[in-house]
Amino acid sequence: MTILRAGTLIDGTGAAPLRDVNLVVRDGKIETITTGGATGSTPPDDVIDASRMTVLPGLIDCHDHMALHGYDLAGRWGLSERSSTRHLRTAQAIEGTLAMGYTAVRDAGGLDAGFRAAVEEGLIKGPRLYTAVAIISPIGGIGDRVSPSGHECVIPHDPALPNSVANGVDEVRRVVRTMVRAGADVIKCATTGGASSRAGHGPRDQAFDRDEMRALCDESHALGRKVMCHALGGAGLRIALEAGVDSIEHGCYLDEDPELIPMMAERGVFFVPTLLVYEYHSESTSPHVKERSRALREHHLESIRRAMAKGVKVVAGTDAGGHGHPMNAGELRCLVDAGLTSMQAIQAATGWAAECLGLEQELGTLEKGKRADLVVVDGDPLADVKILQDPTRIKLVIKDGKVEVRR
Ligand SMILES: [Zn+2]
Repeated sequence: MTILRAGTLIDGTGAAPLRDVNLVVRDGKIETITTGGATGSTPPDDVIDASRMTVLPGLIDCHDHMALHGYDLAGRWGLSERSSTRHLRTAQAIEGTLAMGYTAVRDAGGLDAGFRAAVEEGLIKGPRLYTAVAIISPIGGIGDRVSPSGHECVIPHDPALPNSVANGVDEVRRVVRTMVRAGADVIKCATTGGASSRAGHGPRDQAFDRDEMRALCDESHALGRKVMCHALGGAGLRIALEAGVDSIEHGCYLDEDPELIPMMAERGVFFVPTLLVYEYHSESTSPHVKERSRALREHHLESIRRAMAKGVKVVAGTDAGGHGHPMNAGELRCLVDAGLTSMQAIQAATGWAAECLGLEQELGTLEKGKRADLVVVDGDPLADVKILQDPTRIKLVIKDGKVEVRR
């Protein structure tokens, strides 16, 4: 049994912070939370004194790419260094992200399930990893490896990251099953281009038709996997929602079709705007990437405002990978700039984020019976959420009741 004494506790539910809290942890779970001095008669094995600190649930990034380390073609195709070096680079990103208070990360493509196994086995320290393995799209979509010259990638697929291009209903089902076989916890697909996708396949350009998307969602749900869908705007965004995806990733042009946000509210679809990556792309050296990112900005902010007003849960995802690691909490600062309160931004990366992953019974809030995943911060993130980006403020990171990082 461990007792953690917290000066201030933010529990991730959106409730007002509690002062002078004793949090009792047993077998990796939260046993009790009490305020005031008394902690019962059983002497604890260990007392963690955070009485001058703020304690909050371990942070969750709902959209990351742990194994991506740049946007250049050679890097993305795995040509710029040996795979051993790249894997160790990925391990470093995973460890660094944990050290910034992230105890759970959903990877939206590129991370093979072996990394999840490595963390579970204790080979490396890291957040709980939930991976999509690879992004499913049709030919020409963002999951299709093709160069600006039109050449398809000649590097054979690593069996841990299978080919994710699918055309037609039957192939879509086959590829969903292939991802699950490769260890996918969630299915990632794309029904539009994006800011950084190839010229000619932009944010409002459709990928997949209705039947393909319905098959994708049906097959994923039949196999017990949620569907996270990269969709920025246009017909592809509507098709994704109508087909039954569980979260819209990016969703920059949701404001352009007035029916979409009410549809998300009614169906409980989560919105993962990933603001941080568009800040990054707005300074891109690639003219079409820069232009697309700047053009979508006001629509993106308006979409977030309307989503919050309609009760759609907006959750924190960075789209990190090539940018953003390990300061993933930059997304919370972006959400506050977009109009969320600091408390809502914290919920977006804790309680709401766990719901988005379907793990709200175990993670995301500090409540009796939940896993003891928490972060001890020097300062008040409600006064200034930016302190979560400051490594000197992240004093302890605890996962399953065990201190993983101490500064
Ligand atoms: Zn992404």
